[in-house]
Amino acid sequence: MEANVRDETHLYLGRHYRLRLVEGSVQAVKLTQGRIEISLPDPFDDRRVKTLLESWYREKSMFHFQSLFDKHFIIFSGVSVREKPLLRIRNLRTRWGSISDDNVLTLNLQLIRAPRECIEYVIVHELCHLKHHNHNSEFYMLLEKHLPGWKRLKSKLELSLS
Ligand SMILES: [Zn+2]
Repeated sequence: MEANVRDETHLYLGRHYRLRLVEGSVQAVKLTQGRIEISLPDPFDDRRVKTLLESWYREKSMFHFQSLFDKHFIIFSGVSVREKPLLRIRNLRTRWGSISDDNVLTLNLQLIRAPRECIEYVIVHELCHLKHHNHNSEFYMLLEKHLPGWKRLKSKLELSLS
């Protein structure tokens, strides 16, 4: 193994990637050859590595969450009486997502580590709350209609990020 390849892996969209650290004057994070490659002036600066990785996850999550949300909101626009919610990404302690009364959909940043289909499950679940606030039988009927495989995806999500 190369010296600068860390014996640690990080999840991104459901896959494990080894971390490769490269000394370079420009700070950058990219996916290359099945690895997450981080270049920075001091590859032994663990705190910087962590910060760079975290902001990379945030950037990727903004892109992927927004495009998945846009895709599913179009399907839901006939169902919902509300305006399109704003998307916000946060580190949440106990939830994958929530939708507030002032129409903000908050997704947990940690979801970027999960498979894409599991992120979609969380988005569709929250979109169903535009119509039904509680987890009543109508809520589950709507969820079942839009995403018949949701139970499998829910378990998959819990397993992949446990
Ligand atoms: Zn819910």
